[in-house]
Amino acid sequence: MAKKQFKTESKKLLDMMINSIYTHKEIFLRELISNASDAIDKLYFKSLTDDSVKTTRDEYEIRLTVDKDNRIIMIEDNGIGMTKDELENNLGTIAKSGSFDFKKDGADEKADEIDVIGQFGVGFYSAFMVADNIKVESKAFGSDEAFIWESSGVDGYTVKPCDKETAGTKITLHIKEDTQDEDYTEFLEEYRIKGLIKKYSDYIRYPIRMLTSHSKPKEGSESEYETVKEDETLNSMIPIWKRSQSDVSDEEYAAYYKDKFSDYDAPLKVIRQKTEGSADYTALLFIPSHAPYDFYSREYEKGLQLYSSGVMIMEKCKDLLPDYFSFVKGLVDSSDLSLNISREMLQHDRQLKIIAKALEKKIASELKKMLKSDREKYEKFFTAFGASLKWGIYADFGMHKEALEDLILFKSSFEQKYTTLEEYVGRMTESQSKIYYAAGESVEKLSMLPQVEAVLSKGYEVLYLTEDIDEFAVQILRAYKEKEFLNVTAEKLDLTTDEEKEELNKKNESQADLLQFMKESIGDKVTKVQFTASLAKHAVCLSTEGALSVGMEKVLNSMPGAEDQHIKAETVMEINVDHPIAEKLQSLYENDKDKLASYAKILYSQAQLISGLSPENPSEIADLICDLML
Ligand code: ADP
Repeated sequence: MAKKQFKTESKKLLDMMINSIYTHKEIFLRELISNASDAIDKLYFKSLTDDSVKTTRDEYEIRLTVDKDNRIIMIEDNGIGMTKDELENNLGTIAKSGSFDFKKDGADEKADEIDVIGQFGVGFYSAFMVADNIKVESKAFGSDEAFIWESSGVDGYTVKPCDKETAGTKITLHIKEDTQDEDYTEFLEEYRIKGLIKKYSDYIRYPIRMLTSHSKPKEGSESEYETVKEDETLNSMIPIWKRSQSDVSDEEYAAYYKDKFSDYDAPLKVIRQKTEGSADYTALLFIPSHAPYDFYSREYEKGLQLYSSGVMIMEKCKDLLPDYFSFVKGLVDSSDLSLNISREMLQHDRQLKIIAKALEKKIASELKKMLKSDREKYEKFFTAFGASLKWGIYADFGMHKEALEDLILFKSSFEQKYTTLEEYVGRMTESQSKIYYAAGESVEKLSMLPQVEAVLSKGYEVLYLTEDIDEFAVQILRAYKEKEFLNVTAEKLDLTTDEEKEELNKKNESQADLLQFMKESIGDKVTKVQFTASLAKHAVCLSTEGALSVGMEKVLNSMPGAEDQHIKAETVMEINVDHPIAEKLQSLYENDKDKLASYAKILYSQAQLISGLSPENPSEIADLICDLML
């Protein structure tokens, strides 16, 4: 029979596995056992609604058989099994769960390989790291036929009918011969297999059984011993969250998390909570170390797994997590919840609400702890999920701001680092009454804003709001510890003394005609033009009146559905009263109004550029500048 070919991508992966230098070859057993357990899960779930499933819960098992002399390991399950098509489709192709981006052949190939193996937990194919021939006999539940899939590697596989009495899957691995560098025989040793099951698969909910050697006194003798083979269950089957906390290593938590929540990285933080009292439950929560690829998309669904006394009743219970903690993964196991509770009932369940509240508090307090004790880790967390917390502040009209305001970070002019609001306020000088911030694309651009320079020159600190959500969050907060936030581009920005102010007012009044003329030359784009004494060295800047800033205008107008809204901030053009341009404008007003009109337009477009906006009429401005040059 002609061999069928693997799909191209699978072939590459297979090739990698066969020639693998990966140091954790041992994971093959975890992967195969996890598949077996999933297959049993599927049959078990089917049995809940389908009477034709006759297997009872205590009959399910995963059986290992080792034949050291013939270099064979068998892994057998009595789960759902696979049809002929499923054997071909599931084992002939990979990358259903995520697309592999194979890099071109190159110097880094070995590093890439480890990356792929480490990242994706390559499942079934990992068996090729230790085996040179694999047979998969399988009979799908409800089918009369069984098939055997066989492959010795990249040159393809065959699928033929075979005899198999019961539904389920039996995988037979022929373990590779040892080489100079690699010891494969170790995987045929009983102690090694037992160790691997403890390490990676202890929590599997079905018994993993194997005949193991035991030393027993010989019958009729007290001093003589013989070795007998006895069936042994290798895994404790106790769910990881039911084991005492001190018994579970970080490695075990990480392995569990990666397996159950399909992540290639260990979690950043593991949170355990066990309570008795008004709500009786155990929670095992994980904060991922990076955002899932779909986290900031509509497809992302938050939620925790919900168990009732060790049995899963819901895969994703979203009511257990507020939106701003939607990045948290994990599970809750409670004996107070009924096994048969429906989704609708759950929504109104009082118990569930109590649990959700308690979890929310716990997560917040754990994050606070991390912020205090491990800043580096917290900043890593915040880089991944900080936007979620800031949305939380903004959402529901600021209802959660107290709970979240001490968890958020902003970039700051202080040592160009992340800061908390508490730290900012702690550094405020006596003369400083506001928390200053500037909002825009990047720290580099913001730090060049004339108003930022002006505030910094007073010795005050400026927060750099570079995320779209930042300014919305700040506006909802309004103040922190009674210190108000103030956008440095707000017209209200006032860094002057009373005397300076008085002088400025006089100037604005006496030059009212000039300023009005300039405003009219620019048009509706500005609500007014005025002199300012707050600028350090630049000639002009834009500021805004009212709550809406230029940055927010930009964000709001770029939101989906905002095309015809034309939200407009009330923009003021401010001219540095101490800049030589102020005098020049005055003389133009007296001698050359046409030129003054051009100056007004050019200065306005300069101010726009400095604020990170693009002039509406670049070619007109370019022509005007050119005219001045001639
Ligand atoms: P993954 O488990 O990540 O989907 P695998 O390569 O390990 O990837 O397995 C591919 C598919 O083959 C599984 O999704 C499952 O449908 C099927 N499969 C693997 N092992 C078994 C098994 N023991 N019983 C039934 N189906 C299996």
